[in-house]
Amino acid sequence: MIIPVTKTILPPMEEYFHYLEGIWQTGQLTNNGPLCLDLAGRLKSYLNLPHLELVGNGTLALQIAIKVLGLKGEVITTPYSYVATTNAILWEGCEPVFVDIEPQSFCIDPDLIEAAITDKTSAILATHVYGYPCDMVRIQAIADRYGIKVIYDAAHAFGIKLDGRSLLEHGDCSTLSFHATKLFHTAEGGAVVCRDAEMAHKVFLMAKFGHIGEEAYLDIGINAKMSELHAAMGLCVLPMVGDTTASRKECSGWYDKQFEGRALQRPVLPAGLEYNYAYYPVLFSSHDIMMRVRQALLDNGIVPRRYFYPSLNTLPFLKPELKRTCTVSEDISSRVLCLPLFMGLQKGEVEVICNIVQQSVY
Ligand SMILES: *Cc1c(COP(=O)(O)O)cnc(C)c1O
Repeated sequence: MIIPVTKTILPPMEEYFHYLEGIWQTGQLTNNGPLCLDLAGRLKSYLNLPHLELVGNGTLALQIAIKVLGLKGEVITTPYSYVATTNAILWEGCEPVFVDIEPQSFCIDPDLIEAAITDKTSAILATHVYGYPCDMVRIQAIADRYGIKVIYDAAHAFGIKLDGRSLLEHGDCSTLSFHATKLFHTAEGGAVVCRDAEMAHKVFLMAKFGHIGEEAYLDIGINAKMSELHAAMGLCVLPMVGDTTASRKECSGWYDKQFEGRALQRPVLPAGLEYNYAYYPVLFSSHDIMMRVRQALLDNGIVPRRYFYPSLNTLPFLKPELKRTCTVSEDISSRVLCLPLFMGLQKGEVEVICNIVQQSVY
């Protein structure tokens, strides 16, 4: 038996079929159909956000955000995220300027941002990694002082609140991924959450080739539409998010209890955070110990993941001058593992995982 790092939520097949029947009746498979409109509406009310636009995936969400905000030149960003964060910057013709992370939150260190700002800086693109919030108040203060934009890669932050407010309300916009491995998913999909209706409308148009009506174009748009088949999956999965989160919370609690008093480091959750339990990262005391634990788990059919490795400032395809040293991120990414966490993971399985971890740590 294999225990993976995560399991995709699959709704009852009849529910998906119900939506398929509707699609067969209307004959509309894509182009902003009724299921996309329904899903967008439900997500806005679920997340309590007025301006959210669906797109084809979380990487396109980042690219469109960069395009619509008109970013040029340098974009300050975190080295500790999934590769899509950096690639979106590069793909849009901007230069990533890596600023190291905080050892407690694993998010970009606000103390180091100002020193990295130059007259070419147009924005800060930060990730709420594992859904742990960036220091949004200080990041906004810096952005305001220098007149630059803020984008949050919130691919892990679905449904998370800090002091009662959604993380997605911050910055000029936030991007979401609805990939099958994420907490809420549409198989492939994503969204851009905007501060105002004007930006949301631009995202809407740019994701549909920039079409304004049949014959006019806003700008160089692209095809980033979500299809009706994907929206149907989202409509089936959304009602399951509450139960999934509760189940993941319970599993996280089992891990916490097993690891109590052990010398394992974990990122620190700030007070006032309503977390979504999307990931269970653990930091080992050295790279060698992490690799030993990983191998022992793999030998037993348990598949942890090195989220996030490599540190993005070391990506081989970066120009040498972009590979700024980020000591904290490089160190953490060499020692971190995400342990299995999903709805339906059994208490006995968590105990087995923890026993293997504890035996191989020493
Ligand atoms: C998954 C992920 C993305 C990319 O999302 P896709 O929907 O797979 O394109 C971007 N950023 C982060 C941090 C992610 O984890």
